[in-house]
Amino acid sequence: MPREALHRFEEGGRRFAVDPETCFCFECDDVSWDVLAYYPQASVQRVLHELGDRYERKELEEVLGELEWLRSTKAILPAMTPDKFAKAFQVERGVRRITVRLPKETQQVEERRRGWFGGATRALSDPARELGRDAVALLLSRSLEQRQLTFAFQTTPQALNPDLVADLCDYAIRMGRLSGKELTASLHLTDVALDGAPEALKGHDVCVQLDVSDPEALARHLRPLAGGDRFSLTRLAKAIQPDAPGVTGRVVVCPGHAGLADVVPALHEAGFRVIELDLDGAFIAHPELEPAAVMAAQRECAVYFAKCLLARRYFRLDPITALFYRIHEGKPVARIDGAGTNELAVDADGVVYPSWRLIGAPEFALGQVREGRIDEDQVRRFEDVGALTTAPCLTCWARNLCGGGCVAVHHALSGSFRRPHAAWCDAQRSWMSAAVSAFNLLSAQGVDFSPIYAQLTGKRGGGLRLSLWSMARAALQMTVSMRPLEESDAEMLVRWENWNDAGYFTFNPRGVLMATVYDREMDALHPQSLDQEMVLTRRDGAPIGLVRIGPDMQHAGLVHVSVFLRDPAHYAAEDIRKGFRLLVQEAAKQQEFRRALAYAPDREPALQAFLEAIGFERAGAMREALYLHGDRHDVGVYALTFA
Ligand code: SF4
Repeated sequence: MPREALHRFEEGGRRFAVDPETCFCFECDDVSWDVLAYYPQASVQRVLHELGDRYERKELEEVLGELEWLRSTKAILPAMTPDKFAKAFQVERGVRRITVRLPKETQQVEERRRGWFGGATRALSDPARELGRDAVALLLSRSLEQRQLTFAFQTTPQALNPDLVADLCDYAIRMGRLSGKELTASLHLTDVALDGAPEALKGHDVCVQLDVSDPEALARHLRPLAGGDRFSLTRLAKAIQPDAPGVTGRVVVCPGHAGLADVVPALHEAGFRVIELDLDGAFIAHPELEPAAVMAAQRECAVYFAKCLLARRYFRLDPITALFYRIHEGKPVARIDGAGTNELAVDADGVVYPSWRLIGAPEFALGQVREGRIDEDQVRRFEDVGALTTAPCLTCWARNLCGGGCVAVHHALSGSFRRPHAAWCDAQRSWMSAAVSAFNLLSAQGVDFSPIYAQLTGKRGGGLRLSLWSMARAALQMTVSMRPLEESDAEMLVRWENWNDAGYFTFNPRGVLMATVYDREMDALHPQSLDQEMVLTRRDGAPIGLVRIGPDMQHAGLVHVSVFLRDPAHYAAEDIRKGFRLLVQEAAKQQEFRRALAYAPDREPALQAFLEAIGFERAGAMREALYLHGDRHDVGVYALTFA
């Protein structure tokens, strides 16, 4: 199969295109669909020649112009530089997650010898506690530069000992803090017995996962889940969603057969806010399952999910939500399974595996925690998995959405953890095209994805992110656009910034009057880390200015904005004013900010008039806030409130 530059597909009677590199996708009309049969390989002249008898030249030029514009913003067909290419192959090192299966808690009398010649002593040992502590040591010692770690337990409600788990988590979190890491404890309870389970769940395994960042509350939250009780769905939903800060729960269904279309509605109606379909687990436990039938049922679940979102009934359904997030944020993922590299697992006997999904497969055993032994060659085998190094993935259009799949699934279906199973891949691509089209249609209907993404990222109104997808889509109707700063902009920035006394470079609203010129300039040139600096461009990609947006750390929903246009005449240009107004509105919608404050020194009346023309109102002035060329200047403060 040749590698496609842009993949076209039809879904539900509609046509779509997706860039396999950036995951940017869009719906096609007849003319863009036909143009994409030639673009980008063929020259413009050839496209005009081939399609000239079907469409008007003006129509074709418009579509080609839009595609070229998307290309210039790097939403599609990004150029692969040697640097980017080398970076793509760098393995992200450091274990982020370890899963432990604790043995039954028993105290044993153990003989220990003191030194070479010392006599034997008898000591009480607690294998479960010791194994847990060894696993913490393994996680911390192998985490390298990783800062956010997860210490996960896997057990059944019958075997769960809340106090032991809470003790171990407390220990892990303390050790993590001493190592400068942030640790979350995660409990994965398998084989949860349901009382009066709805018909939809028959034949499927139900598990729950509880993530807790506050160790003090852990035992309290675990107690309702311990013991051999059967749970009604409502009671289970309450137990894993206690509405307590620092606790999030999800129900995970591992399908036992392809009849899973009603699973999601049943769980959603029972009150679960985060639902996961563990299809990887299903293929590992039941390799005989027909991939096409299972994925078709998953498509039905996606349709139900889309209908709920359209009706503003928000919940999170994985893995569909995670896929939407990747498209929306323009975050392609070349490797989705961290087995062996970012993830490890330890079984009840202390044997280390690359992932909890491979526990029990002796050919994947990496070592023994009790003996302090890890086979580094075995570990290195897992550096080489993922879409970038797997032959069939290199030409697969879904490579950056699928990320090369799950190694344990490949092992279960094809017998090799490096070789994806062809039928599984076909089914995977099929449900991904359904998800891509659902995302497009939902976005076109104005569905607000931020409530589900907030659950996904754990942030709401925190860090500021501008989605490549939405910005590029919105900009199709605009005269100007924004794109993130890139390393290749360095030369241009030096030209623009050097000796430039525009307020954008010399004024910082967070600065203090006592600072020296040098301090102020350094503050302006090296903004706070939460600030996001973007390049303003024309539709043809030509850079025309800069914009910096940063959230206010004290007031939620407030952002600070600075604007610089390279050509002063552009401040008065009507098309640029109109385009910038739309951009600000789009950014406000996405980032949920309600008020923006912009700053323009009184010595820059053109910038002040520009801000007023796009809807900002003068709210006051920061007296003598800009110290420049030995004088102090007032800086106008302009406010814009969003509906
Ligand atoms: S695992 Fe299959 S579906 Fe996934 S990227 Fe590779 S070839 Fe494509």
